[in-house]
Amino acid sequence: MTVVATSGVTLCQSSVWGYAMIEHSPFCIEEIFIYAIPAALIVVFGLLRLRQISDYPVVLMPRSVVHSVRTSASLTIMLLLCIFLFLHALHHDASPMLITSNAITLVGWMFATVILYKEHARALTQTWVLRTWWVLQLLVATIKLHAFIRYQQIGGHQTLDFFLFIMMYTLMVLIALVAFIQRDNFPRYSPVSVVPEENEIGSMLPKQGRNREVFNWSNTHSCTPAEIYNPSSLSELVQVIKHANKNNMKLRVRGSGSSSSPIGCTSQCLMSLEKLNKVVEGDKRNSTVRVEAGVPLHSLNDILAEFGMAITCLSPDPSQTVGGAIATGAHGSSLKCGSMSDAIIALDIVMSNGEMCHISTVENAELLDGARVSLGTLGVIYSVTIQCERQFNLHLEEALEELDEVMISIEEYLQHNDHVELLWYPYTTTVLTRQLTRTEQPATEAAGGFMTWYNEVFIRQNVARWISSLGTLFPRMVPSLSAFFTRRLRCMNTSARSSEMFAAMNQRILGPYHEMEYAVALGDARAVLAEIRRYIDQSVTQGFFVNLPVHVRFAAMDRSYLSPSYGRQTCYIAVRCHISTQNYKAFFHGLEEVLQRFGGRPNCATLHFSDVSVLRNQFPEFDRFCAIRARMDPAGMFSSTYIDQILGDVDSHTDV
Ligand SMILES: Cc1cc2nc3c(=O)[nH]c(=O)nc-3n(C[C@H](O)[C@H](O)[C@H](O)COP(=O)(O)OP(=O)(O)OC[C@H]3O[C@@H](n4cnc5c(N)ncnc54)[C@H](O)[C@@H]3O)c2cc1C
Repeated sequence: MTVVATSGVTLCQSSVWGYAMIEHSPFCIEEIFIYAIPAALIVVFGLLRLRQISDYPVVLMPRSVVHSVRTSASLTIMLLLCIFLFLHALHHDASPMLITSNAITLVGWMFATVILYKEHARALTQTWVLRTWWVLQLLVATIKLHAFIRYQQIGGHQTLDFFLFIMMYTLMVLIALVAFIQRDNFPRYSPVSVVPEENEIGSMLPKQGRNREVFNWSNTHSCTPAEIYNPSSLSELVQVIKHANKNNMKLRVRGSGSSSSPIGCTSQCLMSLEKLNKVVEGDKRNSTVRVEAGVPLHSLNDILAEFGMAITCLSPDPSQTVGGAIATGAHGSSLKCGSMSDAIIALDIVMSNGEMCHISTVENAELLDGARVSLGTLGVIYSVTIQCERQFNLHLEEALEELDEVMISIEEYLQHNDHVELLWYPYTTTVLTRQLTRTEQPATEAAGGFMTWYNEVFIRQNVARWISSLGTLFPRMVPSLSAFFTRRLRCMNTSARSSEMFAAMNQRILGPYHEMEYAVALGDARAVLAEIRRYIDQSVTQGFFVNLPVHVRFAAMDRSYLSPSYGRQTCYIAVRCHISTQNYKAFFHGLEEVLQRFGGRPNCATLHFSDVSVLRNQFPEFDRFCAIRARMDPAGMFSSTYIDQILGDVDSHTDV
């Protein structure tokens, strides 16, 4: 919201200042041009930045392209122009006020450039970056306001200009205030902000007073670890583990913090693998790749593309790391493959004693099905080997259909397509079906034009987000808003490289939300959905409205003991609601009862209230996993309060 406002204000600001300067400028005409160019660029950059932050879910464009072309090029241009402007003002003996305001603008852009080059675009959603940006903006605005009032006194009075200036200034102050007060609106999921740069292993062991609050992507869970480490090599990683072991500290690993449960939280030692993000080796002949666990999926996709390879079933959120995706059994939506973890053929895990355990189909093979989905409890995954295949393209066909009709023939849909997923809009009978099939056709050229932007960006991203926000303020409007939205949805029909297509399925566009995802047997899917529908309709009487679509996905049976799709064809049902929704816990409690009645298994990376007894009941190989855990982490070093809740104490596993 603040980012939208930032771009909006930048746009108005440029136009008002541009207009006022032309009307009353004490500067020469060339200066006006010099101002006009960066002003136009700010507007363009602001709009591009907006699309960039919305994580390109609908715009089918690889993240690396977004980063390198948009961020780097536009920032470099802006920086150069600011330097030019500043020097120009100095050279032409401009007023001290103009020189000062140009200097501050230059500092602002230098700041933005350094941040973005260093930490990438996600940094823009972080509070301190936005706050600093706004302090600089306000400073420039104040100087300009002052200058303008002075020039008006000299050059006559235009009420309209003055009014516009005051309005702009008030708006900026208001938004700056929002940036300062409304901290919940800034997801701080990126570990880059969490780990101080100087916190290098060796010089940091152990550092007191470095307690930093760490948040998950939606700001729904946070913790303040006593120590945070950011190793950049295997030997540093081992050193941190040995240090934690020696000091009897618990240790949790953090991927990108994309989980909606407190799974990554700890008050003791937190390790981010952000710097362990390299390819170890790629084998084109066997279509395998070995990567360090800190590689985010978007980078992995780019790496694989270079090898001409792709992952068969990819989880659509490109920010999650390979280690996090594996540890939580992240999945896509296809009956032709299980979770991403199922494609892992080898892992290197550093255990609590600092020793490396290589697990593969030939070495320590008895541990493989436990280690693929470990919830980070067996040790720190240093690297994984993924079985890939040759790169392929997917064709997407969307349709708006009747939920009941789709569910009657769901098996047919699943048989005829490689990937099928459904987005059902509560309080309507409408479901958006997305069917993906492999195609030899080349990727469709990204269509431009206003209507494409209107349908794919404006309606799908912005309107969907506004509606859910509006729904939190006026819950009773949700059914009509939902109906309004579904009527305006336009279906897509396009082809793209598989990784780009999977990424286009990402629901991050809906903004931070609460999410409960359960896995039920495919055969029960229809009955469960009917029951959920009844429950959602019933909750209206308690004043609770579900303001985001229900996401229905599928997976083949999985081999990993803790994967929710272990041993059965699965239907994943994710129910979400906007982050500001009131009384969501009571609703989700009731929903969980419905799902558990059908033998549902929780996705432990999402919201749930289950404990060890529920998991033992629902996961047939739960005890087998516990035995592996007791063997690999006998002292329970990789546990936490949440892990104890869902898996129990390690001591209790030794007799299993
Ligand atoms: C908007 C959004 C959309 C999503 N869509 C999907 C989806 O469609 N399908 C899906 O399956 N998931 C999806 N997810 C993510 C999923 O729910 C998991 O949260 C994600 O896989 C976790 O990855 P991460 O890198 O953020 O790990 P984190 O959340 O940081 O950590 C998760 C767990 O993994 C452990 N871990 C991480 N790295 C390692 C390591 N190297 N060694 C040992 N343990 C480790 C952590 O200790 C923790 O227990 C989505 C998430 C978001 C925010």
